[in-house]
Amino acid sequence: MARVAFIGLGNMGGGMAANLAKAGHEVRAFDLSEDALARAEDKGCSRAASAAEAVRNAEAVVTMLPAGKHVGEVYRSAVFGQAPTSAILIDCSTIDVATAKSVGKEAQEAGYAMVDAPVSGGIAAADAGTLTFMVGGTVDGFERARPYLDKMGKAVIHAGESGAGQAGKIVNNMLLGVTMAGTCEAFVLAQKLGLDPQVFFDISSKASGQSWSMTSYCPVPGVGPETPADRNYDGGFAAALMLKDLKLAMEAAQSVGAYTPMGGEAEELYGRFVSRGGASKDFSAIIKMIDDSWTPPAPSGN
Ligand code: NAD
Repeated sequence: MARVAFIGLGNMGGGMAANLAKAGHEVRAFDLSEDALARAEDKGCSRAASAAEAVRNAEAVVTMLPAGKHVGEVYRSAVFGQAPTSAILIDCSTIDVATAKSVGKEAQEAGYAMVDAPVSGGIAAADAGTLTFMVGGTVDGFERARPYLDKMGKAVIHAGESGAGQAGKIVNNMLLGVTMAGTCEAFVLAQKLGLDPQVFFDISSKASGQSWSMTSYCPVPGVGPETPADRNYDGGFAAALMLKDLKLAMEAAQSVGAYTPMGGEAEELYGRFVSRGGASKDFSAIIKMIDDSWTPPAPSGN
């Protein structure tokens, strides 16, 4: 088993580091938060005094940080030149494509193999080891990262060269934001036109309006499988994180001159929802803003 440095032990990284330790790896963990470090210790990781100390002698370095600026800072100040060049560097954070590519290039110039490996799946999937990883980097980098990612996920997909993992992640989430907003809008209109939400679900989930947002993550309580809508929109995928991903997608679209009108509309809607206090609610709660007069149906009891 290998010596793995894990930096960033928050909501996602905490569970991921625990799964690497459970698989028998020697996990040296670092986070700026004392609470996060204590939780990681409880789950079988050992504590490092700094990121630089964590990566010393590591065979793999995994990072799960909030955004591009944290990733740039950590790799430049504590990983490059501190970790052995034989270590595989794996950044699992969701960040902008440009930073992923530039940090990947600096890694290569410093003699390291590095992959961007953002995830799909939330905190529950991080804890359960059932994340999906989208990986950008060389074939060699991908093959070296895979055994570690396998211990934290159920699917590991090679998306292409450096930055391609981030591209796959944010384009997928742009589509998710668009389909969720559209699904919410459709339920509101259906109800105003006199259709029962369950009846509209029965129709649309088997017709051409079907999507994952409809059938697996229905925004209406009591309709479809159990979702955050059934728990007052608590837990799940926070609207603030959806907004973050939509902003990254719009930034990326602008950088390559892609026309993304629906993604732009979804970004505007989620921006308004977050500024009205919806940041920590599940992203499907936007149904409540799409029509302020929206009243969820009473539970049917089945
Ligand atoms: P989080 O804020 O809970 O965790 C981030 C951790 O990084 C914190 O514990 C923080 O103290 C630590 N950190 C920040 N700067 C640091 C530094 N310089 N050195 C060491 N530690 C540092 O965030 P999260 O929810 O775990 O998300 C992490 C990443 O995963 C984000 O990029 C997010 O977009 C992505 N993501 C999150 C989810 C989700 O459902 N939470 C799902 C998919 C992807």
